[in-house]
Amino acid sequence: MKTIHFFLDFDGTIAASDVVDLVLEKYADKKWKEIEKEWSAGKIGSRECLSRQISLIKANPDDLKNIAYGVSLDPYFLYFLKKAEELGVLVTIVSDGFDILIEQVLKKNFEKHSTLLKALPIFSNKLVRDGEGFKAVFATEPVCEHGCANCKAKVIKKSTSFDDHVFFVGDGLSDRYAAETVHLTFAKGKLLDYCKSKNLDAIAYQDFKKITEWLSDNYPLLRKTNITRTPESKN
Ligand SMILES: [Mg+2]
Ligand SMILES: [Zn+2]
Repeated sequence: MKTIHFFLDFDGTIAASDVVDLVLEKYADKKWKEIEKEWSAGKIGSRECLSRQISLIKANPDDLKNIAYGVSLDPYFLYFLKKAEELGVLVTIVSDGFDILIEQVLKKNFEKHSTLLKALPIFSNKLVRDGEGFKAVFATEPVCEHGCANCKAKVIKKSTSFDDHVFFVGDGLSDRYAAETVHLTFAKGKLLDYCKSKNLDAIAYQDFKKITEWLSDNYPLLRKTNITRTPESKN
């Protein structure tokens, strides 16, 4: 039997909005937007981008938790998780965001489903208190060739074996190297544009309903077959 492994972006994919952006919008000096532009233009990696942006925040941990508390999830995310559990499909969150924000959003939305939540591995960066604000501590050490804060491609390669069927679900530019690593990506937003421009195998989606239905339909075949296309980056 083949192992089926889904890796999921968090901000804008599982969470309906980008929680890091919400925090910056409310608690950081406006300069954060200039830094964001440098990152979008490909001038700096997410590591440098986040390091500089986080240093502009003046807030305490409760302020951050309050913002995260107001964030809802994709309406079909729970439906997807339950189906994945039923089918024995592995699911992992891989985020370029921060532990305290992700944990708070999930905790609030999963009050009645703590067992599902406990079984969900999360790879992200960390925020630690520093003066009146925070300091970013990055998951990827040493730094990867893309300058990522948390290198999604690296996490995926480390967590899978050559024979697995590997999928990614995402929405943004921090997902591009993940999309280049997996067999098939479910993409929306800027990630969908990127996949199209690079000719990567991708399926457009709006919410997890479509992904869950795709998984149910394709599961019998996936369990049996080898995917013929080998991502070059896995060699
Ligand atoms: Mg995202
Ligand atoms: Zn990287």
